[in-house]
Amino acid sequence: MTQNKPTVLTIAGLDPSGGAGVIADIRTFIEFDCFPTAALTALTFQNTQAVSGAVNQSAATVRAQVEAIIKDTHVVAVKTGMLPTREIVAEVARLVHETKLTPPVVDPVMSSTSGFELMSDDAFLALKNELLPVALVVTPNIPEAERLTGFRIDNTADMHRAAQAIRELGINAVLIKGGHLKDRKGSGEAIDILDNDGDVTVFRDEWINVAGVRGTGCILSAAIASSLGKGLILEDSVREAKRYVTEIIRHAKEIV
Ligand code: PLP
Repeated sequence: MTQNKPTVLTIAGLDPSGGAGVIADIRTFIEFDCFPTAALTALTFQNTQAVSGAVNQSAATVRAQVEAIIKDTHVVAVKTGMLPTREIVAEVARLVHETKLTPPVVDPVMSSTSGFELMSDDAFLALKNELLPVALVVTPNIPEAERLTGFRIDNTADMHRAAQAIRELGINAVLIKGGHLKDRKGSGEAIDILDNDGDVTVFRDEWINVAGVRGTGCILSAAIASSLGKGLILEDSVREAKRYVTEIIRHAKEIV
């Protein structure tokens, strides 16, 4: 297909209720005026309250989807979301190594807000050891960063230390999302830290206290990939993506 918009790919799970996963990613790509493509890693069963199950794709079916897309489409940016098994994680890493698939923005999705495990333990290990070294940037929240580093993150100093520790896993850039930070309460700020090869940018936004906004991690990483695909540098891509997610959260608060 010929079209003029930058083509962006999500490799992620399908949330049929549309709050998170591939549908949220595609919505975001379109909002950022990009052309959306998607490779499904899992079909989940969920609604606005909870995830009740999932059927995973195989490594071969994920590879077949990606290979077919990149064969005749120039994909300028990629993001990954739910990568449920070790085999799928390893296959995505291999695709980056062996094909022209561009290094992805990795959202290291561990579990849903409602507590359903979206990724097995050995998949998380493969993500850490095999996928991060070939990724462009990883976007953990606090629990995900704690799992990647093995230490507790209670304040912004810990976030800086964690970003450096994650870079030492072999990835150049880390965005740690401070939304879950324990000492944030009362500060009125949402603090995220981008460490790009040692250049650190601290993003401070108003903390908007609203429950029940789903898929914000998916949307943020999809927005970063879209902005990168449009040619922005990483710092500006994160800034644009954060602005977009903050507006979604603000809007959600208005309609509660
Ligand atoms: N379902 C899928 C397929 C996802 O990819 C994700 C997050 O990445 C979730 C559910 C979790 O979304 P939430 O944190 O809004 O529960």
